[in-house]
Amino acid sequence: MLQVRHLSKTFGTHSVLKDIDFTVCAGDVISVIGASGSGKSTLLRCINLLESPTGGQILFHGSDILEHGNNVPNYRSKVGMVFQSFNLFHNMSVLRNCEIGQEKVLKRKKDLARENALKYLRKVGMAPYINAYPHQLSGGQKQRVAIARALAMEPEVLLFDEPTSALDPEMVGEVLEVMRTLARDGMTMIVVTHEMAFARDVSNHVIFMADGVICEQRDPQRLFQAPKNKRTQEFLLRFL
Ligand code: ATP
Ligand code: MG
Repeated sequence: MLQVRHLSKTFGTHSVLKDIDFTVCAGDVISVIGASGSGKSTLLRCINLLESPTGGQILFHGSDILEHGNNVPNYRSKVGMVFQSFNLFHNMSVLRNCEIGQEKVLKRKKDLARENALKYLRKVGMAPYINAYPHQLSGGQKQRVAIARALAMEPEVLLFDEPTSALDPEMVGEVLEVMRTLARDGMTMIVVTHEMAFARDVSNHVIFMADGVICEQRDPQRLFQAPKNKRTQEFLLRFL
């Protein structure tokens, strides 16, 4: 579905991503792990075009979306994103947060947008809070609304940038549980995470990054049990 080929990104003279290569198939759950500053967020931001890559290709169903003339708004609407800091619209209710993008970007009729918003709010267990405003919710609840909002756009792939890092420890579980359910239902996901148990148990592929390069990528069983790369080994030792 998505092929990232020789992707690079530089900020000025600072080369933040170098020759990034990986493939995402429908239903894949790919975890991206690595130390702070290794380029994980920049990689996600390049994939959803919040940053423009400096080189390489991003093939979506075979066509390079970095090539001029390809339909970027269409691509963007098919790639959802969930941020560490939720990024909900503070002046809108939970329900409105989940409707607005559907109406403005997808041009859906109000009735359909509402129906869809409710469907996904139910899925993340937030239907009882449709009239609440973000400031009335806990961090875990806000993140579940942010996930429902992304799902309501019915993207083909959902990107998560450390979705549980800003949460109090007692709220991490409820968000991971929602993500596990999505994975089980076949949602295609790329998840930047420090939750090694999630990476090991839920994803089918793990990418380890250091200093802007992919040092190692394989299935979680082998990556966690028998990492080949010295830097992967050193990184994982910190989590034992
Ligand atoms: P963390 O785990 O702390 O979130 P990360 O792996 O997500 O780290 P990035 O945020 O992708 O790392 O940053 C990678 C490098 O790119 C860092 O050295 C950072 O300073 C640099 N960088 C990121 N965004 C910019 C920017 N807009 N301008 C200049 N440098 C940037
Ligand atoms: Mg980051």
